[in-house]
Amino acid sequence: MLCRRLSNFKLNTRYIQQLIRTKSQTITKTDITEENATDVATFQLGLTVHDFEVKDIQSLKEFNITAIKLIHRKTKAEYLHLYRNDSNNVFSVNFRTTPKDNTGLPHILEHIVLCGSKLYPVRDPFFKMLNRSLATFMNAMTGADYTMYPFSTQNFQDFCNLQKIYLDAVFRPNLRYLDFLQEGWRLENTNPQDIKSDLIIKGVVYNEMKGAFSENERILEQKVLNSILPDHTYGVISGGDPLKIPDLTWEGLKNFHKQCYHPSNARFYSYGNFPLMHSLKYINETYLSQCEYQDQQHTVVPAQKRWTQPKQEHVIGRYDNLGEALKSKMF
Ligand SMILES: [Zn+2]
Repeated sequence: MLCRRLSNFKLNTRYIQQLIRTKSQTITKTDITEENATDVATFQLGLTVHDFEVKDIQSLKEFNITAIKLIHRKTKAEYLHLYRNDSNNVFSVNFRTTPKDNTGLPHILEHIVLCGSKLYPVRDPFFKMLNRSLATFMNAMTGADYTMYPFSTQNFQDFCNLQKIYLDAVFRPNLRYLDFLQEGWRLENTNPQDIKSDLIIKGVVYNEMKGAFSENERILEQKVLNSILPDHTYGVISGGDPLKIPDLTWEGLKNFHKQCYHPSNARFYSYGNFPLMHSLKYINETYLSQCEYQDQQHTVVPAQKRWTQPKQEHVIGRYDNLGEALKSKMF
């Protein structure tokens, strides 16, 4: 009796799984056909769709890719789409972020924009999606001169959902003070029950960077970059120097967002076989059409002056335990 029930249960589960699969495929296919844009031939040089003008089309035969470069006419935002008949689709919204100090502005901002936005005023919409999305990749990264927010998925509905969350996060984040204290830095009593106890600095990025700078390899990598190109943004630590992070203010962070996370400073990227037309329409209607062009000269990095003579730098790193052990054995 028991066995029979179990086998029935198995059959039902298989049926439900099949149903879910069929339904989700139907949604995906219908939406794509309606947009009628998997056909890259629609995009011709000089064509303007949703205020995006096609500036360049290149065929990369070795990779079966058709690359389409577009520029938004009103804001000058750039868009690069790599069409390939690959179901693992990628979307990324990126900004040129070129800090001039070591407070970790772009890194802390990257954390805070993912803490809720106008459309998604919940705590951590990004992390909430981790267990309810079919994404094959989700993350955000800060580099020396850029911040990027990429994801990938094979499901079109999931692609649209994540795109909405990512775009709202970067263009209309809440940037709340409490999120700044949590992700950036704050003072806290060593014993939260006793206000007379010693104060210590806490914060997600602050701790992350303390961890990063406890690795000799990371210190060396950072110092090499800072020493080779010392005059502008490559001369500072974009992730944040733990000794300098407490110099950052909430106001400073909001200003940095206003200056750098503007469509005129944005670069959009997508890859795969989902309709490009859909992304262009959504981005233009929801965000770009409501913004004016903003000069972005302040984010441009000037060329580094050539050295006239060789340089020598001394970098202080963490005590090398293994090296010391070996040394004491040998002598
Ligand atoms: Zn981080």
